[in-house]
Amino acid sequence: MNSQQDKLWVRWVHAYYIKRGTIENVTINSNTSWLLRKILDTRELLRDIGGWEEVSNIQKFSIKKAYNQMQENFERVNWRRLICNNQATPKSKFILWLALLSRLTTTDKVSKWSRDCITLCKLCGVQDESVQHLFFDCDYSKSVWATTLHYLGLSPVNFAVGELRRAIQKARSKRSKDKLYVMLYTECLYAIWLQRNCKHFKGTNLSPPAVIQEVLFKVACNCNENDRYRLLLM
Ligand SMILES: [Zn+2]
Repeated sequence: MNSQQDKLWVRWVHAYYIKRGTIENVTINSNTSWLLRKILDTRELLRDIGGWEEVSNIQKFSIKKAYNQMQENFERVNWRRLICNNQATPKSKFILWLALLSRLTTTDKVSKWSRDCITLCKLCGVQDESVQHLFFDCDYSKSVWATTLHYLGLSPVNFAVGELRRAIQKARSKRSKDKLYVMLYTECLYAIWLQRNCKHFKGTNLSPPAVIQEVLFKVACNCNENDRYRLLLM
């Protein structure tokens, strides 16, 4: 506030509230306006994150510094670019994010709090459902992945870990083919999750070729003209 005294509002605050004191010792009373009250309430937060010096650059408030100060020191995950550098639809990125955090409610998880839960995979009905099985080991998903990767001229690697590693690597790349792969990877994962839910709640789902057509259509709608042309040639 001291560096902005040429502003009328700041002058007014200084004249009526701060007077000859500092912003730290201004008392809030019944006459204090709602706006100023909210601003003054942040003094406590400012103290908690290290004071004015920690959130300013050359006496100017820095939102970036304040934001960083308010963050806890979390470990950086190696798949962050897979979420941030990804042009897939927001819903599919959200499901990918949940899958990466192992937060999707697959039946292996549900069975821990519900004894009546049938743990078999909704898509094949043969093995127990987990993120690993549902998205990569299930025959239904394998069929979706194999055809999708074939479109990109790639062959399936050791599923789950290998495919995730490849997706993480390609998310660092700026090549349009790699961006396309990341989009397809994300949309495939989301499509498999949707088909699993359709089977579970409606008792029916699409065949893998129909799923792939839907995924390609969705990716074609979201990518640039060159990539769309590339998809058409596949
Ligand atoms: Zn299955």
